Amino acid sequence: MTGRTTGRPAERAPADFDLAVVGAGITGAMVAHLAAEGDRSLRVLTVDGGAPGATHLSAGLDVPTGHTPQKRAMAARSSAVYARLRAERPTLPIRPADTYWLIGRAGLGRLRESMAGPRLTEAGAGGGARLDGVLPGVRQGADRLLLRSGGGTHADVGRLTEHLLAGQRRRPGSEVWSGLPVTGVRPRDGGYELTCGGEARAVAGKVVVATGAWALAGPFGDVARARGLRIKKVAALHLGVRPPAGAPVLIFDDDDAFLLPWREKGYWLFSFTSDHWDGSPEDGPPELSPEDHRTAAGILREHVPALAGKIRGGRAFYDGYTPDRMPLVEEVEGWPGVVLALGGNGSGYRLAPAVAERALELLGPREGGRS
Ligand SMILES: Cc1cc2nc3c(=O)[nH]c(=O)nc-3n(C[C@H](O)[C@H](O)[C@H](O)COP(=O)(O)OP(=O)(O)OC[C@H]3O[C@@H](n4cnc5c(N)ncnc54)[C@H](O)[C@@H]3O)c2cc1C
Repeated sequence: MTGRTTGRPAERAPADFDLAVVGAGITGAMVAHLAAEGDRSLRVLTVDGGAPGATHLSAGLDVPTGHTPQKRAMAARSSAVYARLRAERPTLPIRPADTYWLIGRAGLGRLRESMAGPRLTEAGAGGGARLDGVLPGVRQGADRLLLRSGGGTHADVGRLTEHLLAGQRRRPGSEVWSGLPVTGVRPRDGGYELTCGGEARAVAGKVVVATGAWALAGPFGDVARARGLRIKKVAALHLGVRPPAGAPVLIFDDDDAFLLPWREKGYWLFSFTSDHWDGSPEDGPPELSPEDHRTAAGILREHVPALAGKIRGGRAFYDGYTPDRMPLVEEVEGWPGVVLALGGNGSGYRLAPAVAERALELLGPREGGRS
Protein backbone atom coordinates (compact mmCIF):
# COMPACT_ATOMS: atom_id res chain seq x y z
CA MET A 1 0.00 0.00 0.00
CA THR A 2 2.90 2.37 0.63
CA GLY A 3 3.48 4.89 -2.12
CA ARG A 4 0.01 4.60 -3.65
CA THR A 5 -0.64 7.65 -5.81
CA THR A 6 -4.12 9.07 -5.74
CA GLY A 7 -3.91 11.46 -8.68
CA ARG A 8 -5.44 14.25 -6.57
CA PRO A 9 -3.94 17.44 -5.18
CA ALA A 10 -2.04 16.58 -1.99
CA GLU A 11 -4.33 18.51 0.36
CA ARG A 12 -7.41 16.65 -0.91
CA ALA A 13 -5.88 13.18 -1.03
CA PRO A 14 -7.52 10.69 1.28
CA ALA A 15 -5.24 9.46 4.07
CA ASP A 16 -3.41 6.21 3.31
CA PHE A 17 -3.35 3.12 5.56
CA ASP A 18 -2.54 -0.58 5.37
CA LEU A 19 -5.62 -1.60 7.33
CA ALA A 20 -8.85 0.27 8.04
CA VAL A 21 -11.14 -0.90 10.81
CA VAL A 22 -14.69 0.42 10.66
CA GLY A 23 -16.16 0.61 14.17
CA ALA A 24 -14.34 1.28 17.45
CA GLY A 25 -16.19 -0.96 19.89
CA ILE A 26 -14.30 -3.78 21.62
CA THR A 27 -14.29 -5.84 18.40
CA GLY A 28 -12.77 -3.14 16.20
CA ALA A 29 -10.35 -1.97 18.91
CA MET A 30 -9.17 -5.55 19.45
CA VAL A 31 -8.67 -6.11 15.70
CA ALA A 32 -6.54 -2.96 15.47
CA HIS A 33 -4.58 -3.82 18.62
CA LEU A 34 -3.74 -7.40 17.61
CA ALA A 35 -2.93 -6.31 14.04
CA ALA A 36 -0.36 -3.82 15.34
CA GLU A 37 1.08 -6.40 17.74
CA GLY A 38 1.64 -8.63 14.71
CA ASP A 39 3.43 -5.89 12.76
CA ARG A 40 4.50 -2.70 14.53
CA SER A 41 5.01 -0.92 11.22
CA LEU A 42 1.43 -1.49 10.08
CA ARG A 43 -0.48 1.77 9.53
CA VAL A 44 -3.91 1.14 11.00
CA LEU A 45 -6.89 3.48 10.85
CA THR A 46 -9.85 2.91 13.15
CA VAL A 47 -12.80 5.04 12.15
CA ASP A 48 -15.92 5.25 14.28
CA GLY A 49 -19.30 6.84 13.73
CA GLY A 50 -19.13 8.32 17.23
CA ALA A 51 -22.26 6.77 18.74
CA PRO A 52 -21.31 4.57 21.71
CA GLY A 53 -22.39 0.97 21.18
CA ALA A 54 -22.89 -2.16 23.30
CA THR A 55 -19.25 -2.01 24.41
CA HIS A 56 -19.88 1.02 26.62
CA LEU A 57 -22.84 -0.63 28.38
CA SER A 58 -21.48 -4.16 28.60
CA ALA A 59 -21.61 -6.13 31.85
CA GLY A 60 -18.14 -7.33 30.88
CA LEU A 61 -18.33 -10.84 32.32
CA ASP A 62 -16.00 -13.44 30.83
CA VAL A 63 -16.53 -16.98 32.08
CA PRO A 64 -15.10 -19.16 29.34
CA THR A 65 -17.87 -21.51 28.28
CA GLY A 66 -19.50 -22.57 25.02
CA HIS A 67 -22.16 -25.00 23.94
CA THR A 68 -20.20 -26.19 20.89
CA PRO A 69 -16.54 -27.24 20.60
CA GLN A 70 -15.95 -24.32 18.21
CA LYS A 71 -17.34 -21.78 20.67
CA ARG A 72 -15.41 -23.34 23.56
CA ALA A 73 -12.20 -23.01 21.54
CA MET A 74 -12.94 -19.33 20.87
CA ALA A 75 -13.83 -18.73 24.52
CA ALA A 76 -10.65 -20.37 25.78
CA ARG A 77 -8.50 -18.54 23.25
CA SER A 78 -10.07 -15.18 24.13
CA SER A 79 -9.56 -15.70 27.87
CA ALA A 80 -5.91 -16.56 27.20
CA VAL A 81 -5.42 -13.34 25.20
CA TYR A 82 -7.09 -11.25 27.92
CA ALA A 83 -4.87 -12.94 30.55
CA ARG A 84 -1.79 -12.04 28.50
CA LEU A 85 -2.92 -8.43 28.04
CA ARG A 86 -3.56 -8.17 31.81
CA ALA A 87 -0.13 -9.62 32.60
CA GLU A 88 1.52 -7.13 30.23
CA ARG A 89 -0.52 -4.17 31.50
CA PRO A 90 -1.82 -4.74 35.03
CA THR A 91 -3.62 -1.37 34.96
CA LEU A 92 -6.13 -2.64 32.36
CA PRO A 93 -9.63 -2.67 33.92
CA ILE A 94 -10.00 -6.48 34.01
CA ARG A 95 -10.33 -8.23 37.39
CA PRO A 96 -10.69 -11.88 38.42
CA ALA A 97 -14.28 -12.87 39.26
CA ASP A 98 -14.93 -15.75 41.64
CA THR A 99 -17.93 -17.48 40.10
CA TYR A 100 -20.78 -19.52 41.62
CA TRP A 101 -23.45 -21.35 39.64
CA LEU A 102 -26.98 -22.22 40.76
CA ILE A 103 -28.39 -24.91 38.50
CA GLY A 104 -31.08 -27.61 38.44
CA ARG A 105 -29.61 -31.12 38.75
CA ALA A 106 -30.76 -31.99 35.23
CA GLY A 107 -28.53 -29.29 33.74
CA LEU A 108 -25.28 -30.40 35.37
CA GLY A 109 -24.00 -32.58 32.51
CA ARG A 110 -24.63 -29.84 29.97
CA LEU A 111 -22.88 -27.25 32.12
CA ARG A 112 -19.84 -29.46 32.75
CA GLU A 113 -19.52 -30.06 29.01
CA SER A 114 -19.74 -26.33 28.26
CA MET A 115 -16.76 -25.34 30.44
CA ALA A 116 -13.86 -24.17 28.26
CA GLY A 117 -11.04 -24.56 30.76
CA PRO A 118 -12.10 -23.63 34.29
CA ARG A 119 -12.86 -26.48 36.69
CA LEU A 120 -16.35 -26.76 38.10
CA THR A 121 -16.56 -27.99 41.70
CA GLU A 122 -19.40 -28.47 44.21
CA ALA A 123 -19.45 -25.40 46.44
CA GLY A 124 -20.55 -27.43 49.50
CA ALA A 125 -21.98 -26.04 52.73
CA GLY A 126 -19.13 -23.51 53.04
CA GLY A 127 -19.95 -22.09 49.62
CA GLY A 128 -23.64 -21.89 50.49
CA ALA A 129 -22.89 -20.00 53.71
CA ARG A 130 -20.55 -17.63 51.86
CA LEU A 131 -23.21 -16.86 49.28
CA ASP A 132 -25.85 -16.32 51.95
CA GLY A 133 -23.45 -13.86 53.59
CA VAL A 134 -23.30 -11.65 50.51
CA LEU A 135 -26.80 -12.27 49.09
CA PRO A 136 -29.02 -12.78 52.14
CA GLY A 137 -31.99 -15.06 51.48
CA VAL A 138 -30.58 -16.61 48.32
CA ARG A 139 -32.69 -19.73 47.70
CA GLN A 140 -30.47 -22.63 46.94
CA GLY A 141 -33.26 -25.27 47.06
CA ALA A 142 -32.92 -29.05 47.47
CA ASP A 143 -33.40 -29.62 43.74
CA ARG A 144 -30.58 -27.26 42.76
CA LEU A 145 -26.83 -27.56 42.90
CA LEU A 146 -24.45 -24.81 43.96
CA LEU A 147 -21.21 -25.01 42.04
CA ARG A 148 -18.10 -22.89 41.85
CA SER A 149 -15.54 -22.21 39.13
CA GLY A 150 -12.38 -20.16 38.75
CA GLY A 151 -11.02 -18.52 35.64
CA GLY A 152 -13.73 -15.87 35.29
CA THR A 153 -13.04 -12.17 34.94
CA HIS A 154 -14.98 -8.93 34.95
CA ALA A 155 -13.97 -5.94 32.83
CA ASP A 156 -15.06 -2.38 32.38
CA VAL A 157 -15.29 -2.97 28.63
CA GLY A 158 -15.71 0.69 27.71
CA ARG A 159 -12.56 1.68 29.60
CA LEU A 160 -10.65 -1.32 28.26
CA THR A 161 -11.57 -0.31 24.71
CA GLU A 162 -10.41 3.26 25.38
CA HIS A 163 -7.05 1.88 26.61
CA LEU A 164 -6.62 -0.10 23.39
CA LEU A 165 -7.55 2.89 21.23
CA ALA A 166 -5.21 5.17 23.19
CA GLY A 167 -2.39 2.73 22.39
CA GLN A 168 -3.29 2.93 18.71
CA ARG A 169 -3.30 6.75 18.78
CA ARG A 170 0.27 6.69 20.15
CA ARG A 171 1.55 4.42 17.37
CA PRO A 172 3.31 6.30 14.53
CA GLY A 173 1.39 5.95 11.27
CA SER A 174 -1.82 4.78 12.97
CA GLU A 175 -4.86 6.92 13.72
CA VAL A 176 -8.27 6.77 15.37
CA TRP A 177 -11.07 8.91 13.99
CA SER A 178 -14.37 9.41 15.76
CA GLY A 179 -17.64 11.02 14.71
CA LEU A 180 -17.27 9.97 11.08
CA PRO A 181 -19.68 7.20 10.03
CA VAL A 182 -18.35 5.32 7.02
CA THR A 183 -21.04 5.42 4.38
CA GLY A 184 -19.26 3.60 1.57
CA VAL A 185 -16.37 1.25 0.78
CA ARG A 186 -15.27 0.80 -2.81
CA PRO A 187 -12.29 -0.67 -4.65
CA ARG A 188 -9.46 1.71 -5.46
CA ASP A 189 -5.91 1.09 -6.69
CA GLY A 190 -5.78 -2.50 -5.47
CA GLY A 191 -7.14 -1.50 -2.06
CA TYR A 192 -10.29 0.22 -0.83
CA GLU A 193 -11.54 3.77 -0.47
CA LEU A 194 -13.64 4.70 2.54
CA THR A 195 -16.18 7.44 2.07
CA CYS A 196 -17.92 9.40 4.81
CA GLY A 197 -20.93 11.41 3.72
CA GLY A 198 -19.94 11.00 0.07
CA GLU A 199 -16.38 12.29 0.57
CA ALA A 200 -13.37 9.98 0.16
CA ARG A 201 -11.54 10.16 3.50
CA ALA A 202 -9.14 7.23 3.51
CA VAL A 203 -7.70 4.47 1.39
CA ALA A 204 -6.53 1.20 2.86
CA GLY A 205 -5.17 -2.06 1.56
CA LYS A 206 -7.58 -4.08 3.70
CA VAL A 207 -10.76 -3.40 5.64
CA VAL A 208 -12.41 -4.98 8.67
CA VAL A 209 -16.05 -4.07 9.30
CA ALA A 210 -16.91 -4.21 13.03
CA THR A 211 -20.03 -2.09 13.19
CA GLY A 212 -21.85 -4.01 15.95
CA ALA A 213 -25.59 -3.41 16.00
CA TRP A 214 -25.29 -0.94 13.11
CA ALA A 215 -24.19 -3.79 10.83
CA LEU A 216 -27.39 -4.00 8.83
CA ALA A 217 -27.43 -0.28 8.04
CA GLY A 218 -23.70 0.17 7.42
CA PRO A 219 -21.22 -0.99 4.79
CA PHE A 220 -21.98 -4.54 3.58
CA GLY A 221 -25.28 -4.47 5.50
CA ASP A 222 -26.90 -6.47 2.69
CA VAL A 223 -24.27 -9.20 3.14
CA ALA A 224 -24.85 -9.34 6.91
CA ARG A 225 -28.61 -9.50 6.37
CA ALA A 226 -28.24 -12.30 3.81
CA ARG A 227 -26.17 -14.24 6.37
CA GLY A 228 -29.12 -14.07 8.77
CA LEU A 229 -27.81 -11.40 11.16
CA ARG A 230 -30.58 -9.84 13.26
CA ILE A 231 -30.51 -7.24 15.99
CA LYS A 232 -31.63 -8.02 19.56
CA LYS A 233 -31.79 -6.00 22.73
CA VAL A 234 -29.36 -6.95 25.52
CA ALA A 235 -30.34 -5.70 28.96
CA ALA A 236 -29.24 -5.58 32.59
CA LEU A 237 -30.67 -3.99 35.71
CA HIS A 238 -28.92 -2.19 38.55
CA LEU A 239 -29.86 -3.31 42.05
CA GLY A 240 -29.48 -0.74 44.80
CA VAL A 241 -27.52 -2.91 47.23
CA ARG A 242 -23.80 -2.26 47.75
CA PRO A 243 -21.82 -5.49 47.15
CA PRO A 244 -19.37 -6.36 49.96
CA ALA A 245 -15.65 -6.79 49.25
CA GLY A 246 -14.88 -10.12 47.60
CA ALA A 247 -18.51 -10.75 46.58
CA PRO A 248 -18.65 -13.41 43.84
CA VAL A 249 -20.60 -13.55 40.59
CA LEU A 250 -23.69 -15.80 40.78
CA ILE A 251 -24.92 -17.38 37.54
CA PHE A 252 -28.48 -18.75 37.27
CA ASP A 253 -27.64 -21.05 34.41
CA ASP A 254 -31.17 -22.37 33.76
CA ASP A 255 -32.45 -18.78 33.37
CA ASP A 256 -29.52 -17.47 31.31
CA ALA A 257 -29.07 -14.74 33.91
CA PHE A 258 -26.41 -13.62 36.38
CA LEU A 259 -25.73 -11.29 39.30
CA LEU A 260 -22.44 -9.43 39.13
CA PRO A 261 -21.07 -7.26 41.94
CA TRP A 262 -19.88 -3.94 40.51
CA ARG A 263 -18.25 -2.46 43.59
CA GLU A 264 -16.84 0.66 41.89
CA LYS A 265 -20.36 1.61 40.84
CA GLY A 266 -21.91 0.57 44.18
CA TYR A 267 -24.54 -1.83 42.82
CA TRP A 268 -25.20 -5.40 41.79
CA LEU A 269 -25.79 -5.72 38.08
CA PHE A 270 -28.43 -8.27 37.09
CA SER A 271 -28.11 -9.52 33.52
CA PHE A 272 -31.05 -11.41 32.03
CA THR A 273 -32.43 -12.23 28.57
CA SER A 274 -34.62 -9.65 26.89
CA ASP A 275 -36.47 -11.12 23.94
CA HIS A 276 -36.85 -7.93 21.92
CA TRP A 277 -35.84 -8.35 18.27
CA ASP A 278 -35.19 -6.19 15.21
CA GLY A 279 -34.76 -2.80 16.84
CA SER A 280 -32.24 -0.35 15.38
CA PRO A 281 -29.53 1.69 17.13
CA GLU A 282 -30.22 4.42 14.59
CA ASP A 283 -33.39 5.18 16.55
CA GLY A 284 -31.30 5.62 19.71
CA PRO A 285 -30.61 3.16 22.52
CA PRO A 286 -33.51 0.90 23.55
CA GLU A 287 -35.47 1.45 26.73
CA LEU A 288 -35.96 -1.14 29.44
CA SER A 289 -39.61 -2.07 28.92
CA PRO A 290 -42.19 -3.02 31.57
CA GLU A 291 -41.85 -6.56 30.19
CA ASP A 292 -38.07 -6.49 30.85
CA HIS A 293 -38.77 -5.41 34.43
CA ARG A 294 -41.36 -8.20 34.88
CA THR A 295 -38.99 -10.85 33.47
CA ALA A 296 -36.08 -9.73 35.65
CA ALA A 297 -38.16 -9.36 38.81
CA GLY A 298 -39.62 -12.84 38.22
CA ILE A 299 -36.17 -14.47 38.11
CA LEU A 300 -35.00 -12.49 41.14
CA ARG A 301 -38.12 -13.39 43.15
CA GLU A 302 -37.41 -17.05 42.49
CA HIS A 303 -33.75 -16.98 43.52
CA VAL A 304 -33.03 -13.92 45.69
CA PRO A 305 -36.44 -12.47 46.64
CA ALA A 306 -34.90 -9.68 48.72
CA LEU A 307 -33.40 -8.16 45.56
CA ALA A 308 -36.61 -8.10 43.49
CA GLY A 309 -37.66 -4.84 45.14
CA LYS A 310 -34.25 -3.22 44.77
CA ILE A 311 -34.29 -2.42 41.05
CA ARG A 312 -32.83 1.08 40.66
CA GLY A 313 -32.46 1.47 36.91
CA GLY A 314 -30.47 -0.40 34.34
CA ARG A 315 -28.86 -0.39 30.92
CA ALA A 316 -29.70 -1.80 27.51
CA PHE A 317 -28.32 -1.73 24.01
CA TYR A 318 -28.54 -3.74 20.83
CA ASP A 319 -26.23 -6.48 19.57
CA GLY A 320 -26.04 -8.49 16.34
CA TYR A 321 -27.26 -12.10 16.61
CA THR A 322 -26.55 -14.86 14.11
CA PRO A 323 -28.75 -17.93 13.52
CA ASP A 324 -26.17 -20.30 15.10
CA ARG A 325 -25.05 -17.77 17.76
CA MET A 326 -21.48 -17.95 16.45
CA PRO A 327 -19.70 -14.71 15.51
CA LEU A 328 -19.91 -13.86 11.82
CA VAL A 329 -16.26 -13.54 10.77
CA GLU A 330 -15.73 -13.96 7.06
CA GLU A 331 -14.32 -12.37 3.95
CA VAL A 332 -16.95 -10.71 1.75
CA GLU A 333 -17.35 -12.69 -1.46
CA GLY A 334 -15.88 -10.79 -4.40
CA TRP A 335 -14.13 -8.31 -2.08
CA PRO A 336 -10.69 -9.78 -1.31
CA GLY A 337 -9.26 -8.14 1.80
CA VAL A 338 -12.62 -7.05 3.22
CA VAL A 339 -13.63 -9.01 6.32
CA LEU A 340 -16.77 -8.79 8.45
CA ALA A 341 -16.36 -9.16 12.24
CA LEU A 342 -19.95 -9.06 13.45
CA GLY A 343 -22.43 -10.94 15.63
CA GLY A 344 -21.56 -10.30 19.28
CA ASN A 345 -24.56 -12.49 20.22
CA GLY A 346 -24.53 -10.95 23.71
CA SER A 347 -21.00 -12.38 24.25
CA GLY A 348 -19.04 -10.01 22.07
CA TYR A 349 -16.72 -8.89 24.84
CA ARG A 350 -15.62 -12.33 25.91
CA LEU A 351 -15.10 -13.55 22.34
CA ALA A 352 -13.54 -10.37 20.90
CA PRO A 353 -9.90 -11.56 20.89
CA ALA A 354 -10.74 -14.81 19.07
CA VAL A 355 -12.95 -12.93 16.61
CA ALA A 356 -10.14 -10.43 15.98
CA GLU A 357 -7.57 -13.17 15.48
CA ARG A 358 -9.83 -14.96 13.01
CA ALA A 359 -10.45 -11.71 11.09
CA LEU A 360 -6.70 -11.09 10.84
CA GLU A 361 -6.05 -14.67 9.74
CA LEU A 362 -8.52 -14.17 6.91
CA LEU A 363 -6.70 -11.01 5.85
CA GLY A 364 -3.46 -12.90 5.40
CA PRO A 365 -0.03 -13.14 6.97
CA ARG A 366 0.91 -9.49 7.15
CA GLU A 367 -1.99 -8.59 9.45
CA GLY A 368 -1.78 -11.83 11.47
CA GLY A 369 -1.44 -11.22 15.24
CA ARG A 370 1.17 -12.94 17.38
CA SER A 371 0.24 -16.09 19.32
C1 LIG B 1 -26.27 -4.60 28.85
C2 LIG B 1 -25.27 -5.45 28.13
C3 LIG B 1 -24.58 -6.44 28.84
C4 LIG B 1 -23.64 -7.23 28.17
N1 LIG B 1 -22.90 -8.13 28.90
C5 LIG B 1 -21.95 -8.87 28.31
C6 LIG B 1 -21.12 -9.73 29.07
O1 LIG B 1 -21.25 -9.83 30.28
N2 LIG B 1 -20.14 -10.42 28.40
C7 LIG B 1 -19.97 -10.32 27.06
O2 LIG B 1 -19.08 -10.98 26.52
N3 LIG B 1 -20.74 -9.51 26.31
C8 LIG B 1 -21.72 -8.78 26.90
N4 LIG B 1 -22.49 -7.93 26.17
C9 LIG B 1 -22.33 -7.91 24.71
C10 LIG B 1 -21.11 -7.12 24.31
O3 LIG B 1 -21.04 -5.93 25.05
C11 LIG B 1 -21.18 -6.82 22.80
O4 LIG B 1 -21.32 -8.05 22.11
C12 LIG B 1 -19.93 -6.12 22.32
O5 LIG B 1 -19.67 -4.96 23.07
C13 LIG B 1 -20.08 -5.74 20.83
O6 LIG B 1 -18.94 -5.00 20.47
P1 LIG B 1 -18.77 -4.47 18.99
O7 LIG B 1 -17.48 -3.75 18.95
O8 LIG B 1 -18.97 -5.60 18.06
O9 LIG B 1 -20.00 -3.49 18.75
P2 LIG B 1 -20.30 -2.06 19.42
O10 LIG B 1 -19.77 -1.97 20.79
O11 LIG B 1 -21.77 -1.83 19.24
O12 LIG B 1 -19.46 -1.07 18.54
C14 LIG B 1 -19.75 -0.81 17.19
C15 LIG B 1 -19.12 0.53 16.86
O13 LIG B 1 -19.21 0.73 15.46
C16 LIG B 1 -19.50 2.08 15.22
N5 LIG B 1 -20.12 2.16 13.89
C17 LIG B 1 -21.30 1.65 13.50
N6 LIG B 1 -21.52 1.91 12.19
C18 LIG B 1 -20.45 2.59 11.76
C19 LIG B 1 -20.08 3.15 10.49
N7 LIG B 1 -20.86 3.03 9.41
N8 LIG B 1 -18.89 3.81 10.39
C20 LIG B 1 -18.08 3.93 11.45
N9 LIG B 1 -18.39 3.42 12.68
C21 LIG B 1 -19.55 2.76 12.83
C22 LIG B 1 -20.44 2.48 16.35
O14 LIG B 1 -20.45 3.88 16.55
C23 LIG B 1 -19.81 1.71 17.53
O15 LIG B 1 -18.86 2.49 18.21
C24 LIG B 1 -23.42 -7.09 26.80
C25 LIG B 1 -24.11 -6.09 26.09
C26 LIG B 1 -25.02 -5.27 26.74
C27 LIG B 1 -25.73 -4.20 25.98
